[in-house]
Amino acid sequence: MSELVDHLADLTGFRDRDVMDVTLVVALREILEPTSVAIYRQVGEGTERRWLTRAKMQAGDDTATTDPTWANLDLLPRLDEYPERVQCMDGQAVMLSKAQVGLTLFPVATDVEVVGVLEIVSDTPLGISAQRQVSSILRIYRNFQGLLDYSERDTLTGLLNRKTFDESFLKLTSRPRVTGVEPQADEGRRQVGAQARYWLGVIDIDHFKSVNDNFGHLIGDEVLLLLSRLMRSSFRYNDRLYRFGGEEFVVLMLADGETGAWQAFERLRANTERYPFPQVGRISVSIGFTDIKPGDSPSSAFERADKAVYFAKTHGRNQVHCHATLVEAGHFVEETIVGDMELF
Ligand code: GH3
Ligand code: MG
Ligand code: MG
Repeated sequence: MSELVDHLADLTGFRDRDVMDVTLVVALREILEPTSVAIYRQVGEGTERRWLTRAKMQAGDDTATTDPTWANLDLLPRLDEYPERVQCMDGQAVMLSKAQVGLTLFPVATDVEVVGVLEIVSDTPLGISAQRQVSSILRIYRNFQGLLDYSERDTLTGLLNRKTFDESFLKLTSRPRVTGVEPQADEGRRQVGAQARYWLGVIDIDHFKSVNDNFGHLIGDEVLLLLSRLMRSSFRYNDRLYRFGGEEFVVLMLADGETGAWQAFERLRANTERYPFPQVGRISVSIGFTDIKPGDSPSSAFERADKAVYFAKTHGRNQVHCHATLVEAGHFVEETIVGDMELF
C-alpha cells in the first residue's frame, strides 16, 4: 500500500506530461511486475492517425523508452496496425486481448476525450483486483492531467496559453534538433529531416475589431475557436500551438528550412482565407515567422516574428512573411547580438 502511495506521489509531483507518462509506466512495472507495460497515444488527424509510444518498459529494462516528441508521423505505426487498441479506445473500457494471451488494454482518457491506451503484458491476463488497481491509478492520472490542462491551456480554444510559452521554448530549443527517427527517402509534406530547425510564427487576425463591431463578441469568440481548429488541422501534430491573448496566436515548429516553414504557415493562411465562417463569411490572417537562433530568448524570437507580421499588416494583410527574408531585402535592419546585449 505505501509503495502505491509513493508512486502516486511521484506521479503527481511533476508538472510535465512527458515525465508523468514515464512515471506511470515505471510505477505499474514495479507494482504489477508485468512482462511489459506501455502507453500509446493517437496522434495526427483523420486518416493520417498513428500510434506514438509515450513510454514503454519491459521486464529487464532499467529505464523507459519513448518516441521522441518530434517523431516523424510517417514513420510511426498506423492506427489499423493495432486494431485492438482502437477497439479499446472506442469501447472506453478495459479489454483482454483476443490476439495475444496475457495482454490487457486500458483506455487512457482526459476530461475531454480518450487519447490512447495503456497496454500491460503478463504471463496470464490481469485479475479483477489488479485491473481495478490500474483503473484507479489511471483515474488519478486523468484528474491530474485535467489540472495541468486547466493551468496550461486557454479556456476558449484549448490551445496552450502564453504562460507556458517561455518554458516550452527553452525546453524544446535546448533539445537536439535531429528527431532520432530517420526520414524515409520520399519527402512528403510532413517529413522533417536531419536539417530541421525550430521556427516561431505569429498569427494575427486581420480587422478582427470589425468582426466584433459588426457581429458582437460572441460571434468573435466563435471565430477564434474555429481559427484554432484550422490551426490544428493545418500544422503537424507535434507543432506547439498557443493563443497569446486576444486574436493573436503563436506556433513553435520544427521544419527543414525556410521553405518548409513557409509552406506550413501558407497552408494556414490559405485554409483561413477559404473557410466560410458562419455569419461572418471570410476573414484573413497576417503571419510573420523567424528561425530560432542558438542562444535566442523567447522574447527576441517573438519580436522578430512580430515585426514580420507588422510588415504584412502594412503591405495589404493576408500574407506570410519571413523576418530574415525581409532583412535581406533591406526592409529592416537586423540587430547585432553581442553576448546578452542587443545593439540597435
Ligand atoms: P489588424 O488587421 O490591424 O490586426 O486589425 P484588428 O482589428 O485585428 O486589430 P486590433 O489589434 O486593433 O484589434 C484586435 C481586436 O480583437 C480588439 C478586440 O475587440 C478584439 N479582441 C481581443 N480579444 C478578444 C476576445 O477574447 N474575444 C473577442 N471576441 N474579441 C477580442
Ligand atoms: Mg492584434
Ligand atoms: Mg488583428
